[in-house]
Amino acid sequence: MTARLIDGAALAAQARLGVQERVTQLARVGRAVQLTAILVGSTPAAEVYAENQSRTSHAVGIDYHLIKLPATATMDDVRAAIENLNDDPAVTGIMLHLPLPKQLDATVLQHAINPVKDVEGVSPANIGYVVYGHTLIAPCTALAVIELIKSTGVNLCGLEAVVVGASEIAGKPISLLLTEQKATVTLCHIETKHLIEHTRRAEVLVVAVGKAGLIGADHVKEGAIVIDVGINRITLPDGTKKTVGDVQFEAVSEKAAYITPVPGGVGPMTVAMLLKNTLRSAELLLQQNDTNTPT
Ligand code: NAP
Repeated sequence: MTARLIDGAALAAQARLGVQERVTQLARVGRAVQLTAILVGSTPAAEVYAENQSRTSHAVGIDYHLIKLPATATMDDVRAAIENLNDDPAVTGIMLHLPLPKQLDATVLQHAINPVKDVEGVSPANIGYVVYGHTLIAPCTALAVIELIKSTGVNLCGLEAVVVGASEIAGKPISLLLTEQKATVTLCHIETKHLIEHTRRAEVLVVAVGKAGLIGADHVKEGAIVIDVGINRITLPDGTKKTVGDVQFEAVSEKAAYITPVPGGVGPMTVAMLLKNTLRSAELLLQQNDTNTPT
């Protein structure tokens, strides 16, 4: 079997178009969508990431602001910045760039973001809402994985899904959203014994570890859907650098029914889901305001 490619870049472009249309409609009635990101301490990589985010946001009509705090900022400094943004009615979405300097606790600070404005869906409240089946804003990478699987037309209900990697940012939320879709989910991690025995059963295999080539053809069931979240920079024998996933793409393509490439799979879709969540935050705030406005 030669797998069909799940084209994350094309699907992301489609998703961005949908966001742009709705953002434009809201702008016409004077409701601007505004995302503010906080960057604590600056590295060249973080600056490039923030610059890209600014460009992608503006391309769909989202007003993007970046607040830069010094690397020496304290918990109180960052909490105060978040609280200002929570209180500012012009700000419809907030995100905190990671990683943070070591004196700062990311979980505590993410907890301080108003869950309705938490466009990354990472606050404990938003994760809790997913667990209780009342999703407000879901984590972007997990949403991207679900959208990519759904694009195949395959119904997740009752399928055997295996997620490899159990981080808070990727593996755990992915397994939660797969469970929400009524897949039967196995979550594998570093202590999982005989990983291959789990992955071989998977009708849907999602890999989010950060180890190039971890999953080969032997790990994969014939006809599986394989979603590769991993992003790894490797050096080829001739010294050139290349970005690859956690899955041995060519070998696994011979066995899977569908596969995502790296780059061009989960990455662009995650960016599109951040924009979609930013729009969702703005719409949720509008609903709240309309409910609170006396008639
Ligand atoms: P992480 O925090 O390092 O988590 C990796 C997870 O994999 C941990 O649960 C780890 O277990 C587990 N693990 C490590 N080796 C394993 C093995 N041999 N078998 C099974 N599980 C193993 O990384 P992350 O933030 O989740 O990111 C994972 C990868 O996805 C990275 O390459 C990252 O760049 C990429 N990523 C991509 C996107 C995107 O938008 N495309 C978004 C997020 C992440 P322990 O913690 O117990 O060691």
